[in-house]
Amino acid sequence: MISRSSNLNGVNYEIRGPIYEQAVALEKAGHSIIKLHIGNPAPFGFNTPAHIQQALIDNLAKAQGYAASNGILEARAAVAKHYTQRGIQGITEDTVFIGNGVSDLIMLSLQALLERGDEILLPMPDYPLWTSAVRLCGGNAVHYICDEQADWMPDLEDIRKKITPKTRGLVIINPNNPTGAVYTRETLEGLLQIAREHNLIIFSDEIYDRILYDDAKHISIASLADDVLCLTMSGLTKNYFGAGFRAGWLVLSGKTKEAQDYMEGLMLLATMRVCSSVPAQYCIKPALEGYQHIDDLVLPTGRLYQQRDAAVQAINAIPGLSCVTPKGAFYLFAKIDTSVCPIESDKQFVMSVLKEEKVLVVQGSGFNYHTSDHFRVVFLPSVDQLTEGISRIGKVVERVAMT
Ligand code: PLP
Repeated sequence: MISRSSNLNGVNYEIRGPIYEQAVALEKAGHSIIKLHIGNPAPFGFNTPAHIQQALIDNLAKAQGYAASNGILEARAAVAKHYTQRGIQGITEDTVFIGNGVSDLIMLSLQALLERGDEILLPMPDYPLWTSAVRLCGGNAVHYICDEQADWMPDLEDIRKKITPKTRGLVIINPNNPTGAVYTRETLEGLLQIAREHNLIIFSDEIYDRILYDDAKHISIASLADDVLCLTMSGLTKNYFGAGFRAGWLVLSGKTKEAQDYMEGLMLLATMRVCSSVPAQYCIKPALEGYQHIDDLVLPTGRLYQQRDAAVQAINAIPGLSCVTPKGAFYLFAKIDTSVCPIESDKQFVMSVLKEEKVLVVQGSGFNYHTSDHFRVVFLPSVDQLTEGISRIGKVVERVAMT
């Protein structure tokens, strides 16, 4: 018997976990599944804008060999310019790393930093790669509460309570997956103050920074401080519907002078994986500097806005379910009122939804949420699919409520 490494203890990724495997098995058996489980835009008709696809084709001949491990200069310069325009100070091409998606950069940034037992503060709920990556790199994931009653803003008092001498960094996901929260300036200032007091590094995952609804404004936390080391991350996956391109970037700012050794460590790890996918790197400049197609989709007349509204209305119309209206990204994190719908666990609930109604969603505990009474809905599918899928979830809620 060959067993997996004990380094994988506590490492999981439920978005493609057992519930997903069960859905695949049902599909193989001939069932059709409504999939509200993954933030992969292309299968739902959200195409990478034509000029970005064209950049990949046009540059293919140039992109056959390896590139610099931190990324091609053209892409790094475009990223540096972009964030300088957004108000982050002191960025140069040398403080930018290009990776195979943000996922790659999350791993690199933690692996280059953590000693065994170091602690990283993570939002709860979180995007589960963050928790798993901390554990895989030998760190301890310490979760802080994001408060549903306060539109899912991070609870600053809870963060303060959880800081120990071993705390090295604080992760924020803004706009947030899975809650759709977009953090206010006041919250960001509060987080920075905590980071200053305790000498923490801020990891800011901003992969949804252009997907904003209503009056939401996105502020890069790094633009509010030049005295805290901030790692800001984004990429082509969500804003540009280029999930399969595997292109992301990481920008270091703030106290970079004190972080030279860490940055060399990052570079060392980057060299070990040689470089990130080169053809996709040629798409970064055209994406950042070209027309922003996403802006049309988040207007009240746009597809994403309308799908968000349809999903929120459908959830809130079901007795026993509710959700905070997302201000960004394309997810909502629905709450099950267990006094109305006494489920055994969130896992068992999403499994019933899948088996009985052929709808796939992911349980809240898959996002490291502390109570077993939430699930995430992805609102990339059409209004019809969302309405049908959520009404089927409602049937399970009704059945459980009656037992
Ligand atoms: N960070 C967050 C918050 C995400 O939601 C995702 C994907 O869903 C990622 C990172 C991974 O992005 P990438 O495709 O760039 O690796």
